[in-house]
Amino acid sequence: VLRAENVSKSFGPTPALRGADLALAAGEVLAVMGPSGSGKSTLLHCLAGILRPDSGEVWYDGHRLDQLPESARSRLRRDEFGFVFQFGQLVPELPVLDNVMLPLLLAGQSRRSARESAAALLDQLELSGLEGRRPGELSGGQSQRVAVARALVARPRVVFADEPTGSLDSLTGERVLELLVDSAREHGASVVLITHDARVASYADREVVVRDGRVTALEPA
Ligand code: ATP
Ligand code: MG
Repeated sequence: VLRAENVSKSFGPTPALRGADLALAAGEVLAVMGPSGSGKSTLLHCLAGILRPDSGEVWYDGHRLDQLPESARSRLRRDEFGFVFQFGQLVPELPVLDNVMLPLLLAGQSRRSARESAAALLDQLELSGLEGRRPGELSGGQSQRVAVARALVARPRVVFADEPTGSLDSLTGERVLELLVDSAREHGASVVLITHDARVASYADREVVVRDGRVTALEPA
């Protein structure tokens, strides 16, 4: 569904990506590892149409994503992609249920059907009973699961997760990840998962490593 070809991106004099290639199949869960500063987040941003590469191509569904105007890219991000980041993407003023309903309401769904979908997903992510809490009243693991629910609720075709468990202890993080991958698989979504945790590999179909702005397959240990 998604492919980067020879993608380069610099920030001023700093090259972040130097000819990165990556292909993501439909329904595939891909783990992206690599040292800090190697270009993982930049690659994710290029794949998701958040950043436009300096050179190279990004293909989504047979279209040049990198050549679309920002309005079309932001529509894709809203309608077809889901995002989970490390911290604080929830709207602090809104109860958990409303946070998860938000993408559906933005997509024009009725409150009633949005509420049903959001509640079902919260249940699947083991968050039943917390619907009325505000994000500030949740533990780290709970709030990351709410973020996962919100990323998945609109049935995205691709979920982008940039160290979604980076701020959690390893046991909590592993559980959040397991739920993320299980729910994504259940919905048939592909996942691009950036992580520093090698154990995360066991949840992915495939692993790649980013080094110095290029993507390499994981060396067999
Ligand atoms: P980490 O594991 O620490 O999150 P990363 O692999 O995600 O690292 P990137 O965030 O993609 O790395 O950064 C790659 C390089 O690009 C780094 O040298 C970084 O300093 C630089 N960089 C990233 N974003 C910007 C920016 N907005 N402005 C300037 N330089 C940037
Ligand atoms: Mg990063």
